Amino acid sequence: MSFLKTTLENPLSAPAHSLRTHNGVDLEFLDTGILRVSPAGALASQKNNYRVVISCGVHGNETAPIEMVEQLFTEIKSGELAVNNELLFIIGNPPAMIQESRFVDENLNRLFSGQHTASESKEANRARLIEEHVTRFYQEGDEGRLHYDLHTAIRGSELEKFAVYPFLHERQWSTAQVAFLERCGLEAILLSSKPAGTFSYFTSNHFGAHSFTIELGKVRKFGDNDMSNFGQAMQGLRDLISGKENFDGKPNAIQVFSVVEEVIKRSDDFKLHVADDAKNFTVFPKGHLLASDKDYEYRTQRDGERFVFPIANVPIGQRAMLVIAPTTL
Ligand SMILES: [Zn+2]
Repeated sequence: MSFLKTTLENPLSAPAHSLRTHNGVDLEFLDTGILRVSPAGALASQKNNYRVVISCGVHGNETAPIEMVEQLFTEIKSGELAVNNELLFIIGNPPAMIQESRFVDENLNRLFSGQHTASESKEANRARLIEEHVTRFYQEGDEGRLHYDLHTAIRGSELEKFAVYPFLHERQWSTAQVAFLERCGLEAILLSSKPAGTFSYFTSNHFGAHSFTIELGKVRKFGDNDMSNFGQAMQGLRDLISGKENFDGKPNAIQVFSVVEEVIKRSDDFKLHVADDAKNFTVFPKGHLLASDKDYEYRTQRDGERFVFPIANVPIGQRAMLVIAPTTL
């Protein structure tokens, strides 16, 4: 039995059912793409330190993280991978996966923290359902809350593996979490400067979870992913699931960036001055024109600024690019 296959066979909703592995781990399929995993009873009271959400496929064409989650599911089901934390696995957008697209109606990762209330799109309904399951999961116990939302990027990147750290308001950035992400093979971390409709901001802000949007490389089709490229991240997740990860240690060489400009598309005159195939994290010298619009332009303010996530064809009023610069935690 496959978590991925079951999800694709019932992309809109699925009746709840459950099974127990031979080593006593409970697998509860709560709805389509939503799987609750609980350690065997005796362990639960002793060793559960964390309540972990591991999500993938929030963008339907980002297949590698979905294959990673399927692999973890297979190892848990066979008993090969021990479970010593409470887990919630989520495959975000099954209908978009089936049509091999980022989304069906609109970007799911802009609709969390109640942003779905203004819409009746497929993704808005999905955001609502995911929020309900995550809320129940986190409120079931008082273990430390974690969330790793796994993605792959549309374009190539000078730094291939990196995480976006949601805006924390008054909370402190966690160096222990950043050290864990570095052990997972991440090269950079990008500190957000304001609230967002992302899944990771929702879990971070509503539940005080250590949450991250994690970019693991370039988008490819199912079966085209070189899974050896994700070995370090897989090992990090296995250590987390089995309880071996205890979040000690400090970051070493991982690069830290903060947002210096959020470039918003203001009118139909909007233009991005970066090549279609330019890589995320490309470095620019001071004074370089990156974007222009009616009565607006963005030129880099100092040497060493870089851009990430440029998309020119967003609706007016939405973010078209982030400009970032090196910082420290
Ligand atoms: Zn994505």
